[in-house]
Amino acid sequence: MLVYTASLCLLWASCILAAPATKQTRQKVLLISFDGFRWDYDRDVDTPNLDKMARDGVKALYVTPPYLTITSPSHFTLLTGRYIENHGVIHNMWFNTTTTQTKPYYQTQFVNEWWDNGSLPIWITAEKQGRKSGSLHFPGTASTYQGMTPTIKEVEPLLYNYKDETKWRKNADKVMGWFKDLDLDFVALYFGEPDGTGHRYGPDSPQRREMVKQVDRTVGYIRDSAERHGVSNHLNIIITADHGMTDVYRNGLVEEITLSKIPGFAFSDLSFHLVDFGPSGMLLPKPGRLEKVYNALKDAHPHLHVYKKEEMPERLHFAKHERILPIVLWADPGYVINGYFPVQFHKGEHGFDNQELDMKAFFRAVGPAFHKDLEVGPFETVNIYALMCHILGITPEVNDGHLDATKHMLVTSPRPTSGEPVNYLQKVFMGLSAVAGFLLVVFMVVMSHKMLTKKHKNKRLESSKDLTDKEVSKVTSF
Ligand SMILES: [Zn+2]
Repeated sequence: MLVYTASLCLLWASCILAAPATKQTRQKVLLISFDGFRWDYDRDVDTPNLDKMARDGVKALYVTPPYLTITSPSHFTLLTGRYIENHGVIHNMWFNTTTTQTKPYYQTQFVNEWWDNGSLPIWITAEKQGRKSGSLHFPGTASTYQGMTPTIKEVEPLLYNYKDETKWRKNADKVMGWFKDLDLDFVALYFGEPDGTGHRYGPDSPQRREMVKQVDRTVGYIRDSAERHGVSNHLNIIITADHGMTDVYRNGLVEEITLSKIPGFAFSDLSFHLVDFGPSGMLLPKPGRLEKVYNALKDAHPHLHVYKKEEMPERLHFAKHERILPIVLWADPGYVINGYFPVQFHKGEHGFDNQELDMKAFFRAVGPAFHKDLEVGPFETVNIYALMCHILGITPEVNDGHLDATKHMLVTSPRPTSGEPVNYLQKVFMGLSAVAGFLLVVFMVVMSHKMLTKKHKNKRLESSKDLTDKEVSKVTSF
C-alpha cells in the first residue's frame, strides 16, 4: 500500500512538473535588442530601470557576440543560434561578386535569398510548432523563410528615426498589444540605439550617456506596459544587444590603415572588395593573384590582421561559408580599414574581434522562468536561441549553442551559489510546503482507498453473487 501510494504521489508530482504547458500556463518570450548597447554602458549613467530589472531577474556580466560583430549577422545569430559562418548572413550588405553590385543595410533587409539561406529564425520555428510569433523592426523581419512569415511583423520605413522615444513607446505598447490581443508566444523587438549615437559621438560621449538614459526609461516603460496589458505573469523579457562600441583614432593620433598606400597592393588585382566598412574587410583577388595580394597586405601595418579565409582562427567561426571572400581583414580597436582614401568619420565603431571587451554586449532577463537578483558570468549570445526555445517549450533547430550555457539562470535549475543566497526562511518554508503537500496527497489517497473499499464491501454484501474478486480489484485499482 505504501509503495502504491508513494508511486501515485510521484506520478502526480511528475505530472505537475513535466506537464505539457497548456495555453494558460505557457510561457511567453519577448526578445529585445538595443543595437550597440555595450556591456558596461550602465556604469557611468544612472539606470534605475535596468538596475531594477537586474534585481527582479538576471544580469550577465557581459555577453559575447559572434564575429563579425556587426548588426545583421549578429542579430541572425540571436534568432538562429548559429555562428555566422553557419547561418550565412555574413554581412550587413548584400553583394554580388560578379556584378560587383552591393546593397546597404536597409535594402539588404528585402533580399530574401540573403536571409532565407538554410537557417530558420526562432519566430518561424515557433510557428511551425503551433506557437504564434511576431517581429517588430528586428533585422531579418522583412524576409520570408521557406515561404513562411511570423503571425505579425512590421518593418520600419526607409526614412525611420531610430532615436524617437515617443515611437519607442508606441512600439512597446504595440508589441504588448500583440501578446494580449493576438496571444502571441514570441516577439522580437529592435531598437536602433544607442548604436547610432555611439558611432556619431563616440562611446564615451555625453550624447551616448543621454541615449543610455533613454534606453533605461524605455526599459521601465516596457515593463510597465506589460503590467498594463496584463501579460507580465507569463512573459519573460530578454534584453541584449548585437555588439559593443569602441573609439576610433584618427587625425594624426595614429597611423591610419589605408590599403591604397600599402606598397605592392593594387585594387586592380581584385575582382571585388568590401572595405570602408569599419574595421573589417573582405577581398576577392582576381584569378592567380591571391598570393600577391595576401603577401602585400600581410605585415603591412602592425594593427591590420590579414587572413586567408581557410586560415582564419577557428574561434571566430567566420570561414566556412561560401559567401565569405578568400581574404579577410580586420583591424585592432581604434583603427578602421580604408580603401583608396579615408572616407569613414565615425567616432565610434564595432566589427572588431569579439574577444575585445569593448565588443561585448549587455544582457538582462526577467520573468517567471528566471531567478531573481542573480548576476551570472559571461556567455556567448549564440546560446540565447536554445534558452528561448526551452522557455517556449519548442524543439530547437540544429544550432551551435547549448542550454547548458544559460540554464543556471532558470528557476528550474538550482540557484547558482555565486549569486545572492536564497533566503533561508524561504527555503525552509518551501521545504515544509512540499512535505505538507506530500502528506495531504497520502492522506487523500488513503482515505479514498478506504472509502472505496468500504463502498465495495457494502455493494458486495448487497449483491455478492454477481461480483467476483477480480472485478473488485479492477474497480478499486483506478
Ligand atoms: Zn553600428
